[in-house]
Amino acid sequence: MTSQQPVLALDVGGTKLAAGVVTRDGTVQSFCRTETAVAEGPAAVVKRLLDLGEQAAAEAGLPLDRPPVSNGRPFAAIGVGCGGPLDPETGIILGPPGLPGWDSVPLGQLVAERFGLPTYVENDATAAALGEYRWGGWDVQNLVYLTVSTGFGGGIVADGKLFRGAARQGGELGHVVIDWQGRRCGCGARGCAEAYVSGTSIARRATEAAAAADSTLSGLVVTAKDVADHARAGDPVARAVWDETTAMLGRMVAVLINVSEPDLVVLGGGVTRSGAQLLEPVREAALRQAMPPAARACDVVLSRHGDAVGVLGAAAIAYERREES
Ligand SMILES: [Zn+2]
Repeated sequence: MTSQQPVLALDVGGTKLAAGVVTRDGTVQSFCRTETAVAEGPAAVVKRLLDLGEQAAAEAGLPLDRPPVSNGRPFAAIGVGCGGPLDPETGIILGPPGLPGWDSVPLGQLVAERFGLPTYVENDATAAALGEYRWGGWDVQNLVYLTVSTGFGGGIVADGKLFRGAARQGGELGHVVIDWQGRRCGCGARGCAEAYVSGTSIARRATEAAAAADSTLSGLVVTAKDVADHARAGDPVARAVWDETTAMLGRMVAVLINVSEPDLVVLGGGVTRSGAQLLEPVREAALRQAMPPAARACDVVLSRHGDAVGVLGAAAIAYERREES
């Protein structure tokens, strides 16, 4: 692999697909997004993901021929981030709660066959943690990344290395239980962080609350953004759901600070577009509840990468695993 070759990065989210070309210094040369439309099923979604990859390559001036590639390989490798559980060795997706019907989908093989390039698949939140560590501009050795998106998950970098663990999923941070008698989670357990903190849960809890009370949300098809907007405008029902969400996330962050003593907890994902409305109460609750030495050593911030965080994570994985192989 030459150091000049960029990588192609693909990101499979529960709501959006993204693709981009990323250079070794973390510059995003092209960035394309489209709806996941998960109801169409894996075959249709994977086809659109591959087409999006071709579009991102073309927009970066590096069009991908169908294999065999005639004029040499334009990319060092392809990195793919996807919701877990999945097998990073085989690139097979193993029925993630956020991607119904994706049981044993050989995503890595499908990408590699289409483009004829080495392809590395990783849990999207684990990948994003490495992307934040490498290119987030933070200059720290210990970092926890949490994505508050359609789902909720995260990854850990400890002493400068991505934590993968025995099952190589990098930890299932979304399914850490923060209320053992709490709401049922998509994984079947009760009271997981994801059952409160994900965009899906924020919208669902607000819909339930607005059906039972007088609210400016009543009768709407509610999104997490609506809950943030209506809470800011003073609606008490939206406010209660938002406050519960930030309290739960704050508690979750405190748990993670106690477990891994990071220099930094970075929050990313679509719900973090609400900015200080999310960050400030979460930061205050987390640093108040964590053990004092760990809390004093840590701060809680928002990712600077916005919507590109998933693509940067997938790219970081491609560089790291290509070098290991
Ligand atoms: Zn769960």
